[in-house]
Amino acid sequence: MGLFRVLVLVALIWLVWRLIRPLLLKGRSSTANPNDNPQKMVACRWCGVHAPETEMNQRQGYYFCDNEHHRLWQEKQHDE
Ligand SMILES: [Zn+2]
Repeated sequence: MGLFRVLVLVALIWLVWRLIRPLLLKGRSSTANPNDNPQKMVACRWCGVHAPETEMNQRQGYYFCDNEHHRLWQEKQHDE
């Protein structure tokens, strides 16, 4: 009887694994789609908003969404 229960348990685990595995693989492939977002996303140093690298202004090695945010950030650097 003990062996039979082990076999049933193994069969159940196999069945659950068979059901769950496609869902796991499906979830992984949908999140890592390279065609969805080919552009590199960067964050504004001042406000933290994320935008494609090409739409951001690069100043002194940091990215800013506009010149105003660069100016504000620079002012803060002088204060400290
Ligand atoms: Zn900004």
